[in-house]
Amino acid sequence: MYEWHWHIEWQTPYEFHGHAITKVIAEEKTPYQRALLVELARFGKALILDGKIQSTITDEFIYHEALVHPLLLSINNPEKVLILGGGEGATLREVLKHKTVKNAIMVDIDPIVIDFAKKYLQEWHQGAFDNPKSKLVIDDGYKFIRETKETFDAVLIDLTDPIKDSPSQMLYTKEFYEEVKRISRWGIVTQATSPSFSLETFSIIYNTIKQVFKKVSAGIVYVPAFDGLWGFVYASDIVNPVEVNKEEVNNRIKERIEGGLRFYDGETHITMFSIPKHIREVLEKENRISTRENPVAVPA
Ligand code: SAM
Repeated sequence: MYEWHWHIEWQTPYEFHGHAITKVIAEEKTPYQRALLVELARFGKALILDGKIQSTITDEFIYHEALVHPLLLSINNPEKVLILGGGEGATLREVLKHKTVKNAIMVDIDPIVIDFAKKYLQEWHQGAFDNPKSKLVIDDGYKFIRETKETFDAVLIDLTDPIKDSPSQMLYTKEFYEEVKRISRWGIVTQATSPSFSLETFSIIYNTIKQVFKKVSAGIVYVPAFDGLWGFVYASDIVNPVEVNKEEVNNRIKERIEGGLRFYDGETHITMFSIPKHIREVLEKENRISTRENPVAVPA
């Protein structure tokens, strides 16, 4: 019964979660990362990069809705949105649900992961790459931000975790957030790793962003396939998702989103931003900052 192949995912140097694999769909070593597409016995199809599950078909909607909608719904009529990373195309899919969005630009460093997504992750992108409002750019997000002359209503940062020396590590630094602020009119959001497995990483990312933006909020969700809580940081000088009440979230979803949501609504909004006391205390006390000289990294 237990003669499976296993995906062993290290969350800290002291613990892992094992997922039984029923099928390996594709595998490739790209110039940037090791990409693996599998079927997991419990969660179905899953994209794994450098040994870390990025998302699974069963619960990807939790992560992607939580990343995209609190920020976009706190902004007046977002029209032009930039996504950094976002390989699967599911962040792009969620952005395109906003009726006001006219241009969604996605910048991912890895063309092989994008090809994987286009070929095998139809359930994630649901045709988003072919939408006339979408533009895909293959580039390093940091380089793109430095060189672009454009500005964007919102910047959504959907990168791999800051693994030491990985292509995304420098995109969790104060210097990077300062560059992003320059090109974002209303605000930004980033995935910020797991408060369950690396509360330290989460709180350092939160505190780093606090040095750059005036209004900064942390949100958390539970993602079953990640086997823990997942954190996001929303930041702006103008708006704050936390200041939008439950009824207003529901009104805005009704008015502004096409295609429906499965996870995020007024009720979920309250739970996402109701951070338990012990986590709040860590966030409030954090005084370390991630910089290019001393960038934050996940423990495993
Ligand atoms: N849900 C996610 C997780 O669990 O970490 C992130 C999803 S998404 C697949 C992450 C994407 O970030 C990948 O497609 C990867 O190629 C991209 N990426 C990593 N470093 C990058 C960089 N410097 N610039 C642009 N994209 C980058």
